[in-house]
Amino acid sequence: MSAGTKGRWPGGATQLAGVVGDPISHTMSPLLHNAGYAALGLDWCYLAFRVGRGDLPEAMRGARALGLRGLSVTTPHKEAAAAAADQRSALVERLEAANTVVFRHGMSVADSTDGAGFLDDLRTGADFDPADKTVAVLGAGGAARAVILALGQAGAAEVLVVNRTAARGETAAALAGATGRTATIEELAGADLVVQATSAGLRGSASLAGAAGDPMAEIGARCRPGQIAYDLGYHPAVSSFLAAASAAGAEVRNGLGMLVHQAARQFSLFTGEPAPLQAMWAAIDLPSGGDPGQ
Ligand code: NDP
Repeated sequence: MSAGTKGRWPGGATQLAGVVGDPISHTMSPLLHNAGYAALGLDWCYLAFRVGRGDLPEAMRGARALGLRGLSVTTPHKEAAAAAADQRSALVERLEAANTVVFRHGMSVADSTDGAGFLDDLRTGADFDPADKTVAVLGAGGAARAVILALGQAGAAEVLVVNRTAARGETAAALAGATGRTATIEELAGADLVVQATSAGLRGSASLAGAAGDPMAEIGARCRPGQIAYDLGYHPAVSSFLAAASAAGAEVRNGLGMLVHQAARQFSLFTGEPAPLQAMWAAIDLPSGGDPGQ
């Protein structure tokens, strides 16, 4: 909201953006984007829309017709958004999934900020540059694939992929080029960074191949001092994977920083303005750069 529009907002010139997903009531994206608009005094508003599976192409056509400036895209629509867009970035062509749609000159342009947001947080929040490092990723879904591609492009020496379904693991590992390969849980010990990117982060989920009980806690317990354990999830803030990794002496970080940075990149794509990161961190009650204890 612009300071100059106080008391007269929203108005006819207010620009709209939003997030589509299902479920969506839990999303923190409106908090992050609206805090950014307020910090810069922009006459913009960002809303959450629940869009059922199968309805995404119609929602995108409607959003464009209504003049929305951009959409963030979350589960289960990332593949559908990539397929439905008029244009795709090179990243989206590789990933076949998009978390961002920008409406520009009557066209929908699909992009992906997940991988870059992850790298931003890794570098600024965890002070870790993956260049020449051995990194491991648990999972091969949409988020894992974005992270694997980003780590490969960032110059990681080796990108190890551990996934429940072997074939999906192979496909995902190939995104890192010659440095990517599938690996076993035992090989995680040799990694400088272990990324938990499955949707099985909650206690009691079924197991990855080779682990029993709470598999993520068991895998976290294999971490060691000198390693960074990073969970893309952030609810709960400390997953069983992170709790076990921390107890084993690893440095731990949850996915809130990735969430903030991928949103910051979307903010810039939508508005053309640099994102006010400090205000976006404050919107989720964290100091700039995140909580070192998270
Ligand atoms: P997907 O559904 O695309 O992928 C799920 C992955 O988890 C697959 O590799 C799947 O393996 C694996 N998996 C699911 N259940 C189990 C299980 N019981 N045991 C072992 N492996 C399992 O999910 P996303 O990639 O979209 O999301 C993954 C996580 O990342 C979620 O927690 C999500 O919230 C988080 N995320 C965080 C973001 C952030 O900004 N912090 C951004 C995007 C996502 P298989 O291939 O065998 O099916």
